[in-house]
Amino acid sequence: MTKTEKIPQPLKDPLLDPDGPELGDDFLALCGERNRRFVERLRDEEEAARQDKAGRLHRAEHPLIGVLAIQGNYASHSAALTEAGAEPLEVRKPEELAGLDGLILPGGESTTILRFLDKHHFFEALQEYCGRKPVFGTCAGAILLAREVLNPAQRSLGVLDAVVERNAYGRQIDSTILTAETALEGGPLEMVFIRAPRIVSIGPGVEVLAERDGSPVLVRQGVVMAATFHPELSADRRVHRLFVEAVQAARSK
Ligand code: GLN
Repeated sequence: MTKTEKIPQPLKDPLLDPDGPELGDDFLALCGERNRRFVERLRDEEEAARQDKAGRLHRAEHPLIGVLAIQGNYASHSAALTEAGAEPLEVRKPEELAGLDGLILPGGESTTILRFLDKHHFFEALQEYCGRKPVFGTCAGAILLAREVLNPAQRSLGVLDAVVERNAYGRQIDSTILTAETALEGGPLEMVFIRAPRIVSIGPGVEVLAERDGSPVLVRQGVVMAATFHPELSADRRVHRLFVEAVQAARSK
C-alpha cells in the first residue's frame, strides 16, 4: 500500500492574486506567507518612521548650516561647525541654498570666488540669501559681504554696512597670529590673520566684537557676522558657537 504523497503546489500570493486561493492550494502555507509579508511591511514602515523621526529630532537640535565650498578652507569650517553643534553642508550651486538655516562664506581669494559666482550665475541668488538669512563671512568671505571694497574696488554682496580694504596689512605682518581680549566671554581669543583685509569703516548698526590696532576684526550686524581672521583655524570654537547660536535664534522666530 502506498501512502498518498502530497504534491507540493506552487504558492500563489493571495494579496496579488485577485481570485484568491484555489482548490488544491495549501491554505495554511498561504496564510503563513501572507503574514510574513505583512509583518515585514510593518517592520519596514516602522523603521522608515523611526529614521524620519530621528532625522527631524537631529535637525531640531542641530541647525543645518551651509559652507560655500568654492575655494579656500571650507573643510575646516565644516569641522568647526560640527564641533559647535551644527550640521554642515557644502554648497556649490544656487539650488543648494534651499533649506539651509544659515551660511558661511569662507576665506580664500575673493576675486576667484567672485569669478566663480559670476560664471555660475550664483551671485544674485547668494545676495538674495544673504539678505534674509544668518550669514558669516571670514576673511575673503567678509570682503564679499561688505557694502564697499577697496584696493582695488570690486563687486560685493553689500549686506554688511562696512567698507573693507583688501590686503591692508604690510607685507611683513600680512599673516600673523594674535591673542587678544574680545567681547566674547571666556578670556583672550586666538586670531589667525592671513593676507587679511581691514575694516576701514562701519555703519551705526554694526557691533564690534573684537579689534586689531583699533580696527574692527569681528563684527555683527543683526544676523550678519564677519571676521577678518580665520576662526576655523584655531581650536577655540567660541566664534563658530556664536554664529550657531544666532542661527538657532533665527530659526525659532
Ligand atoms: N587676500 C584675500 C582677498 O583679498 C583674502 C585672504 C583670506 O581670505 N585669507 O580676497
